[in-house]
Amino acid sequence: MIQLDILAVGDLQRDDDGGIVKADSTSVLIRASGRIIVVDPSTKYMQPAVKTSFKQIGVFPKDVDTVILTHTHNDHIENLKFYKNAKVYVHSGGDVDVPGAKVIDDDEFKICEGVRLVHTPGHTMDSMSVFVDADRKYVVAGDAIPLEDNFTRNIIPASNVDGALALESIKKIRDYADVVIPGHGFPFMTDR
Ligand SMILES: [Zn+2]
Repeated sequence: MIQLDILAVGDLQRDDDGGIVKADSTSVLIRASGRIIVVDPSTKYMQPAVKTSFKQIGVFPKDVDTVILTHTHNDHIENLKFYKNAKVYVHSGGDVDVPGAKVIDDDEFKICEGVRLVHTPGHTMDSMSVFVDADRKYVVAGDAIPLEDNFTRNIIPASNVDGALALESIKKIRDYADVVIPGHGFPFMTDR
């Protein structure tokens, strides 16, 4: 059985001009096929929430064997140092070099049964999402879907490097997901 838990619900606040005031990513724990996987470690600000979640779930950060970075923006990766024993996965095309990380070059990469990485560029070229086949079909989308609103209204991330690719990526996610966990905010059901 594959289990998903939300370690911390991130937020994204913008000022009237659209500039980012505060950004902390949502952080997700996936337990599948004996693997303990964190998607997006999030920020220092979220550390208390993340620690509390680990205690409640009954898992220790040191037991996490895999960390997936949906992309390398700081608001998603700051707490990476929590996971000293984990193998880290990033997609190629990012601006930040993560020492020791495995760099995925393919459009899809299988982590384990039921969990695969799918390249979903547009917000950044290195953006990838985690497609999870559990009791429902989940997508941990990172900033391919920064906020629920991007999905509902089919609008590309305000910050993007390629709008056409970003739209394609939203479609990839829409075609698969029953539940989307956005880069920032709470999980939501799709109407699939
Ligand atoms: Zn980002």
